[in-house]
Amino acid sequence: PQPNPEAGAAVKAADRDHVFHSWSAQELIDPLAVAGAEGSYFWDYDGRRYLDFSSGLVYTNIGYQHPRVVAAIQEQAARMTTFAPAFAIEARSEAARLIAERTPGDLDKIFFTNGGADAVEHAIRMARLHTGRPKVLSAYRSYHGGTQQAVNITGDPRRWASDSGTAGVVHFWAPYLYRSRFYAETEEQECARALEHLETTIAFEGPSTVAAIILETIPGTAGIMVPPPGYLAGVRELCDKYGIVFVLDEVMAGFGRTGEWFAADLFGVTPDLLTFAKGVNSGYVPLGGVAISGAIAETFGKRPYPGGLTYSGHPLACAAAVATINVMAEEGVVENAARLGASVVGPQLRELAARHPSVGEVRGVGMFWALELVRNRETREPLVPYNAAGEANAPMAAFAAAAKGSGLWPFVNMNRTHVVPPCTVSEAELKEGLAALDGALSVADEYTR
Ligand code: PLP
Repeated sequence: PQPNPEAGAAVKAADRDHVFHSWSAQELIDPLAVAGAEGSYFWDYDGRRYLDFSSGLVYTNIGYQHPRVVAAIQEQAARMTTFAPAFAIEARSEAARLIAERTPGDLDKIFFTNGGADAVEHAIRMARLHTGRPKVLSAYRSYHGGTQQAVNITGDPRRWASDSGTAGVVHFWAPYLYRSRFYAETEEQECARALEHLETTIAFEGPSTVAAIILETIPGTAGIMVPPPGYLAGVRELCDKYGIVFVLDEVMAGFGRTGEWFAADLFGVTPDLLTFAKGVNSGYVPLGGVAISGAIAETFGKRPYPGGLTYSGHPLACAAAVATINVMAEEGVVENAARLGASVVGPQLRELAARHPSVGEVRGVGMFWALELVRNRETREPLVPYNAAGEANAPMAAFAAAAKGSGLWPFVNMNRTHVVPPCTVSEAELKEGLAALDGALSVADEYTR
């Protein structure tokens, strides 16, 4: 790409004048003006290229500008750009069929939304109406979206400003051995005690008041804590025992990210509702949805479902999903994530951890990995405090700046960096990115003590 700094300056100036950005103090941010993107890379107007180890916001599972998906969107735009949700439309029918074919168990009906948060909103509404109960149990260290209900069930600081509407939401602790809430020393203890804690929470809230338990199959933004064997099966059992709807949020973990179509497949668990977005069409056009079990679909067989969206199952978004799923199936994208995750990312991150005192733990699967950075490996003190900002966050800011300086765009959240490149990433690209990460971790090492 030809550098064009003047064009970049104009894009930046209009952004600074008029774009109001998510989750940000508007005057304290400095967004990079991006000129283009392809595959695993994007570049700015000065001609600097970055290897994207963040997949945007962990959603470009097939990379940027996949030609077959771009062509499918163009074809759909020429044929039928939009059509209202009450009609049967080819792209929508086919997307629903392809998704239902891949979701676990009997999750065979698909309600389409515009993204992840509204998928979660609708899953909760379905659970409440299906059970006639008011409460939702969700985990601390989770993220479920930015709309009112979704942010209320979120278990991170983004919830706090919107907490006026938490009625009916109760948080519990999910397993996380590295920072165990249960004084556990093994995965078995962590699993058993987390399940005991959840059952006690249900008992004290009143089982007959709990409509749903919602969990990210593998919590994403909160730290990629792969649950211990038996945990999700145990939650499934508790839901069955107490008549509670089990919702798995696969907005981030779904569609190949973990090296399976859905992370639930890693654990052999079938929820009653499964939410998806992001990877369903790599975010080329906004799309999310809820995959619905036979029993819950039946609740709304004769009784109308009281919810909908103007753009539910938008033809452009659905055509992008059809093309994305076909590309993933035909080009072995899910297998690529599984294979390179196991043979390259996992082993090389462990090798980095052995050499860098700032790395407290490496965990993950497929193209879904976290490095937890610490001041001190013995005490496990995080490299920056929980929800740090400004000066307190300086070590993570220095780490991120070092990565970017060597052409790697990292995903950074609190004291963690996540290695979450596109599932189409090549072995050579991974090696290039991991070498840059090695250098940036040396900067983090300077803050250890
Ligand atoms: N659920 C999970 C697990 C997510 O990771 C996200 C977004 O990161 C959401 C829900 C919200 O999705 P969206 O930003 O598309 O509304």
